[in-house]
Amino acid sequence: MSIKENLNKIKNTFSNPHCLLVAVSKTQPISALKEAYDLGIRDFGENKVQEMVDKQAELPEDVRWHMIGHLQSNKVKYIAPFVHLIHGVDSLKLLREINKQAVKVDRIIPCLLQVHIAKEESKFGLDENELEEIISGHEIQDLKNIKISGLMGMATYTDDTARVRKEFRGLHQLFTTLKKRALPPNFEMKELSMGMSGDYVIAQEEGSTMVRIGTAIFGERNYK
Ligand SMILES: *Cc1c(COP(=O)(O)O)cnc(C)c1O
Repeated sequence: MSIKENLNKIKNTFSNPHCLLVAVSKTQPISALKEAYDLGIRDFGENKVQEMVDKQAELPEDVRWHMIGHLQSNKVKYIAPFVHLIHGVDSLKLLREINKQAVKVDRIIPCLLQVHIAKEESKFGLDENELEEIISGHEIQDLKNIKISGLMGMATYTDDTARVRKEFRGLHQLFTTLKKRALPPNFEMKELSMGMSGDYVIAQEEGSTMVRIGTAIFGERNYK
């Protein structure tokens, strides 16, 4: 199937038409991104800094670049001038560095805090205690060039849809609880990034505001 057919199919299965589709283009060639761009896609997700920088130079200015992978502190500077949203932030150390680089380029960089919701040990993310420490710690308030726009999470990679739903539901509950709370001024809880090719339908049913979809749009990834 073509990228166009895939995008149509995905849009037709959205249960929430307002949910943002982030096209995850990691490992895909520029030609594939341009094809998606010509079909109206403006939000692209990448997980490697160098790849994002290279692709950013090749695509039009109005593309919104989403960093979805695990970001190393020493690489923040390369994407700080243009990145639209950093999805997977899971430490105060990283927030500090994003803030520092954002100051240098005179921007406020929106970030999502990644919460560990999966059963698997290997996944990145904060547990609820670590999240609480960041939110209620004093330092976060001084990081005036970052904005915490919401939460991000990845469900366990499994066919057990009940389990996936439960994990997404738990994250949505946490998101709703935080929304109601008095949070530091640089917080604005409005985005909940959850759902990928295999589980975006469930994620939307459980309250996702942005889904990150790669293979269902572009086909299998080519890791060289
Ligand atoms: C690769 C990736 C995706 C997209 O995965 P697909 O299964 O190809 O849709 C989404 N989120 C993150 C964090 C990823 O690394």
